[in-house]
Amino acid sequence: MKRTKVIKLLQQEPGGDVLVKGWVRTKRGNKNVTFIALNDGSTINNIQIVCDTASFDETLLKQITTGACIAVKGELVASLGSGQSVEIQARDIEVLGTADPDIYPLQKKGHSMEFLREIAHLRPRTNTFGAVFRIRHAMAFAIHKFFNDKGFVYLHTPIITSSDCEGAGEMFHVTTLNLENVPKNEDGTVNFNEDFFGRQTSLTVSGQLEGELGAMALGDIYTFGPTFRAENSNTPRHLAEFWMIEPEMAFYEIEDNMDLAEEFIKYLVQYALDNCKDDLNFLNNMIDKELISRLESVVNTEFVRLSYTEGIEILEKSGVKFEFPVSWGIDLQSEHERYLVEKHFKKPVILTNYPKEIKAFYMKLNDDGKTVRAMDVLFPKIGEIIGGSQREESLEKLEQRIAELDMDYSNLWWYIDTRRFGTAPHSGFGLGFERLLLFVTGMANIRDVIPFPRTPKSAEF
Ligand code: ATP
Ligand code: MN
Repeated sequence: MKRTKVIKLLQQEPGGDVLVKGWVRTKRGNKNVTFIALNDGSTINNIQIVCDTASFDETLLKQITTGACIAVKGELVASLGSGQSVEIQARDIEVLGTADPDIYPLQKKGHSMEFLREIAHLRPRTNTFGAVFRIRHAMAFAIHKFFNDKGFVYLHTPIITSSDCEGAGEMFHVTTLNLENVPKNEDGTVNFNEDFFGRQTSLTVSGQLEGELGAMALGDIYTFGPTFRAENSNTPRHLAEFWMIEPEMAFYEIEDNMDLAEEFIKYLVQYALDNCKDDLNFLNNMIDKELISRLESVVNTEFVRLSYTEGIEILEKSGVKFEFPVSWGIDLQSEHERYLVEKHFKKPVILTNYPKEIKAFYMKLNDDGKTVRAMDVLFPKIGEIIGGSQREESLEKLEQRIAELDMDYSNLWWYIDTRRFGTAPHSGFGLGFERLLLFVTGMANIRDVIPFPRTPKSAEF
């Protein structure tokens, strides 16, 4: 007999024999009847198994404890209890794997998120993490669907790279050199000619530079892959390894870029509302009572569009004493972003035209010579969820900026070539996948929306 998943069983009409396999959530009962709540990960909902206690071996029933894995054959019958329409009247139970109640860590309900991070290998078996990881999957699928339906090409950009896209120098080195005996040049610097790639390489912080090459040939592309930042920021919004979605579009001006970003996020949130109802209802009840209303409100409001300069004025006039003082030219901190979004406008904000000094070299310079066509999308509870820009398409201006910043031209010759041959206006942005998931799930810490988080001093599992 073939196994049926719980999600399907719960939608079936009663009648007929079924086989179900899963992990025991709870067992209760008496000498007449035993009830087992079984979950197989296909849905947050459990199927109830009903056993006539006397007709099962006592030692077998004893092995059925929280966390044990069992296979059950029986009849799918209408349920008399509330909460489910069907249940399984068990005829045959096989214990596939026991879970000694003295040492299985997921006994009681209500473990702290911190404790669950220490048992990241088991936490997917909790309701909360099951819901989060199913939603994570649904969002990944929806991202591909959104772009595929629009005719974007999914471009795989490299993970090992020799250029620092953001210029922040927060990269993890990739090397096969013997760290105990590093080959040196005469001047004492490391001789990377001897390294695997014959040059210094790192894990990518962004696929954008290569994404631009794709857009200059295929028109509309997107990347969706892991990115790595060796930034020592222990915040609830930063990971050392996170996933990023980066669309890059030829012939898009900054306004088109903003339109796409807004449409994209609304599409994803609507997709979750339509397709992840059970999981969202659970998270709404258990984690964040305003989750669903916040999701609905984002889908139904127009994002505010505002220049950096106007944003600074609002912050200066607010009378609020921020931890980091506000003046034109500062890089906005999360407290500033959240003030604009949560207190002032009470809706998502797209900030544009930032001072060039606080943004990356590739952003298009405005006519004022001071600001660039950057756009950050700011969200309630999260702060920055998207960072993007129109790119500098002028060879002259791009070369000038690279010189001003004293960047290593030799590493970027191929990037600059796109401006030399058939350059065109183009734009793109990066959406941090886990920041999106924080918003969609209502979870408070970014470590709890990725199965195995990588953060400073933490890379177990
Ligand atoms: P922040 O100021 O929050 O550190 P950033 O300006 O460094 O963000 P970008 O370089 O513009 O971010 O990257 C694009 C997007 O990637 C961000 O909008 C955010 O959603 C996400 N992101 C950036 N850094 C991280 C990180 N360390 N962990 C998780 N997501 C991140
Ligand atoms: Mn950052």
